Amino acid sequence: MAQQLVYSSKINKIRSFALIQIFIGFAFMYGGILTKKIEWLMATLFVIGVLFVVFSCVVYFWIGLLSTRAVPIVCPNCEKPTKMLGRVDACMHCKQPLTLDKDLEGKEFDEKYNTKEYRKELKRKAKNNK
Ligand SMILES: [Zn+2]
Repeated sequence: MAQQLVYSSKINKIRSFALIQIFIGFAFMYGGILTKKIEWLMATLFVIGVLFVVFSCVVYFWIGLLSTRAVPIVCPNCEKPTKMLGRVDACMHCKQPLTLDKDLEGKEFDEKYNTKEYRKELKRKAKNNK
């Protein structure tokens, strides 16, 4: 079989992004503990750390909102339930590229199908066909 690029599901991507931010936040706070002799540096590092943690909480909240809008489907490849965001997404379990759009079936997976430009282009094409 031809080599296939691995795409991870958008929800998983955002989730790992938020997790990384928590780690960065704690790293900054740990740096604050290490530099507690220099008061202003400790305070600055703590504030940055807290900001990272707060921001990742916001991202987690955002994932929650996104999840409610995601379309729950059963993956045709691994037959596990997964959620899709946008026109194209990947299965959360087996990374199988998925699409909701019949026109895109069999086409190579491309993030560009989720962009506004692509939708505009589709609308323009539909107008021209009339
Ligand atoms: Zn799957």
